Amino acid sequence: MSTYRHKVEENFIRYAQIDTEANPKSESFPSSMKQKNLAKLLVDELKSLNLSHIEMDEWGYVFATIPSNSDNSDAPTICFCSHMDTAPDCSGKDVKPIVHRDYDGAPITLPDDNSQVITTQQHPYLIEKIGDDLITASGKTLLGADDKAGIAIIMDLASYLTENPTIKHGEIRILFTPDEEIGRGVEHLDMNKVDSDYGYTLDGGALGSIEDETFSADGVQVTFHGVSAHPGYAKGKMVNALKLAADFIAALPNDRWSPETTSGREGFVHPTLISGIMEKATVSFIIRDHITEKLAKFEDELESLAQMIVEPHKGARVEFEVSEQYRNMKEVLDSVPFVTEYAIQAMEKAGVEPRPTIIRGGTDGSRLSFMGLPCPNIFTGEMAIHSKHEYVSIQDMEKATKTLVELVQIWEKHV
Ligand SMILES: [Zn+2]
Repeated sequence: MSTYRHKVEENFIRYAQIDTEANPKSESFPSSMKQKNLAKLLVDELKSLNLSHIEMDEWGYVFATIPSNSDNSDAPTICFCSHMDTAPDCSGKDVKPIVHRDYDGAPITLPDDNSQVITTQQHPYLIEKIGDDLITASGKTLLGADDKAGIAIIMDLASYLTENPTIKHGEIRILFTPDEEIGRGVEHLDMNKVDSDYGYTLDGGALGSIEDETFSADGVQVTFHGVSAHPGYAKGKMVNALKLAADFIAALPNDRWSPETTSGREGFVHPTLISGIMEKATVSFIIRDHITEKLAKFEDELESLAQMIVEPHKGARVEFEVSEQYRNMKEVLDSVPFVTEYAIQAMEKAGVEPRPTIIRGGTDGSRLSFMGLPCPNIFTGEMAIHSKHEYVSIQDMEKATKTLVELVQIWEKHV
């Protein structure tokens, strides 16, 4: 077993070169058909590892099973999940991964665009990575470590367990999803096919990070209805909805509430879009907090503010519409705390110092947790994601594989 040679590096380099950029403007699913090119390759590789129940379904989800070799018939089925798409914020076409051996801490100038320089000042985590082998892109694209690092790790785990049949584990389910980056990753996911008791997404950043807490999230649409009149004869009659919307935005607090003034466990109320004409204007918001009940408080205050803006204007009115987006996975994970605890124990056994982290955002794991698959997020080493500076340490990826090897053995003993 000590002779096993990790395959995260070659796995990752193969996957990173396949363009899987998601397209938020598309109505199709997956949003870009090219995501299926990676899905097909993964199916072929899973077949060569002799796994069972291998499938890419019509939506592009990839499933496979590593059958149990345990005598414990109560051992739960554990799902490991990563996403195949890359973020549309930065090009994912013609990605050229470059390996930088034995990183020395000096600035890395990317060859295809010399203005792209990766430094420890901008990316302090890199100081911890001196001596590691890093992978970056070449300057014109993102790298796609988010989340192809996760896929490379899960595929490395599958190779490891195939080559080391004496390692005891229960049934393991592998899941690769499309379109996570545009928030649609679980839209067509068939939970009967997932068929697992507990899960982990492999989509975290720094070595040791384990995330079991996300934001809870609502969307809000505030629509101002003005009063229309011919602009030449509008005196005393017209109420311009665009001006109501502008007054409303200007009345938002400056020193709190915003992403630009909050951090840690503070939530926010964030306008994302204004659209409209004189008669009618809509302001869209995203509302975020780790505590779900606080969303309603934000929304009440926001609605009062909107009412206050229209009140002096005869004939004008405002509509206020709230839609639920996702909920903090901690609400589910609190009832099965061992899911996170086992991951922490596995890291310790693998010689990795655990860094429990809260997410100021959501993951597919938040949705999966509420769909019946409690699903914290484990590190992969992916850093500076969605940008041309994106990088990943090969040693971080290997330590993630080692963590999963320990984790499946811990679950094998679960009763
Ligand atoms: Zn991701």
